[in-house]
Amino acid sequence: MKGEEPVPGGGTTAAPPAARKGPPPGNLAARDIHGALLILLLALLCGLVLSAALAVWAVTSFTLLDEDYGAVPPPDPAHLGHTDVFVVDAKDRVVRGPVVADYAGRYSRDPRWPLRLAELEAELPGAVEFVRERLGLGDRPAPPFRIRFRDDEEMPSPLFMSVFQELEGGAARPLIVVGVDALVAGRYDLKQTLRHELAHCWHLWSLGAPFYAQPRWIQEGLADWATGPDCDRLRRLYLDECGSPDIDPAAVLVNGMDGRQERRDYGESWLAFLMIEREFGISAVHGLVAGLFSEGSPQVALQRVTGWDYEEFKRRARAWAADLVREETGDWAAYVAAKRGYLAKEHDAAEAAYDTYLREYPSGAFRALALAESADLRLLRGDPDGARARVDAIASAAPVGALARRCLHLRIRIARAEKDWPAVERLCLDFIHDFEWDDNGATRDVRTALPEARRKMLRAKEGGITSEPVPGEADPEFR
Ligand SMILES: [Zn+2]
Repeated sequence: MKGEEPVPGGGTTAAPPAARKGPPPGNLAARDIHGALLILLLALLCGLVLSAALAVWAVTSFTLLDEDYGAVPPPDPAHLGHTDVFVVDAKDRVVRGPVVADYAGRYSRDPRWPLRLAELEAELPGAVEFVRERLGLGDRPAPPFRIRFRDDEEMPSPLFMSVFQELEGGAARPLIVVGVDALVAGRYDLKQTLRHELAHCWHLWSLGAPFYAQPRWIQEGLADWATGPDCDRLRRLYLDECGSPDIDPAAVLVNGMDGRQERRDYGESWLAFLMIEREFGISAVHGLVAGLFSEGSPQVALQRVTGWDYEEFKRRARAWAADLVREETGDWAAYVAAKRGYLAKEHDAAEAAYDTYLREYPSGAFRALALAESADLRLLRGDPDGARARVDAIASAAPVGALARRCLHLRIRIARAEKDWPAVERLCLDFIHDFEWDDNGATRDVRTALPEARRKMLRAKEGGITSEPVPGEADPEFR
């Protein structure tokens, strides 16, 4: 299944054109043989032009279908009515199981690309079986999904992976599009993300078009719950969204059901499924999944499992989630006391408060944030060793996303404070390679630090070593 043999073509071209090749030639009166011939010729010509146009359309596909929808209605209208449908690219060169491995983008020569691809392929069979077991799907066949790879700027939405559908010939199948930038940089947990997307695929495949009519919190909550009992997404949401003195974590997370599914609402959506598991048992979640996978109405499925009508369910889920979040962020007030001093630039008081927090809450939800802010304060006081100890402590928890980026930025600032210019250069290059080049404080720092490091190294080589002081600056991500 996972051999190296390339499978040419990957199947047929998108074939809707067949029915539309020119007008039917049947009912012509044969009075004027020349006229008839002319019309026949015209029809043939029209047919040729149309098929040529359609061939071009098929080859330049992988565009959102709604752009093309007016011109060429696809064959299976049951799967349409929304914009998440792609027409399959007919040029697939390497198809290994569900993986279309003919990516030729920006990172195709990066040595990390084949390694990450192999890692993803190795994770896949286990991920499919995990989701089957977790969702209680028994011996249901796995969905016939495909996986394709794209550079970030070609991703329809700026996510690590997204699920769409693709049409090949008359058939629709789930499609996972993977952004190679984040994959190569190892910016997320591959196993958990695959499980999440596979749950979407299974849900979509079982239900067809009605999938898109189900509330987003149902789709996302189910996919997060499917990733396993040790889902740490919620904890990351505390870190990313709730580390502010002005925000009550419970109020922030618990506000999203039936509204727009924003990033922070994933926590609540997941918690609603967790509530069903904790209050009614795992077989209740399996019963709910069976209902959600076979009928369009989640309200009916929820009521069957919990006995509550939809409004009652939402009320209870929110209250339950709020209680849990308050309990799990019991360290919030202590962390925020330090953070207030940090933001007010009362550095000595803040440093003392962070130390107290870190001592009293060795596994607090805000520990990594406290360590990062405390590292910044150490740098300001001219203590790069103290800063490094804190960054190392964050790194030991294998941070991803914004926190990983922040750690790397802190390391650049530490190396800069120590005038270790080769390290500054290496770390800056890592930063450029691994992270988005947004216009924020960290990238502005890198933009300054990299040429500075090179200038210093050049000067050192020429014998004219200088030692200009590095100005102490507050962490620009928090200005
Ligand atoms: Zn999702």
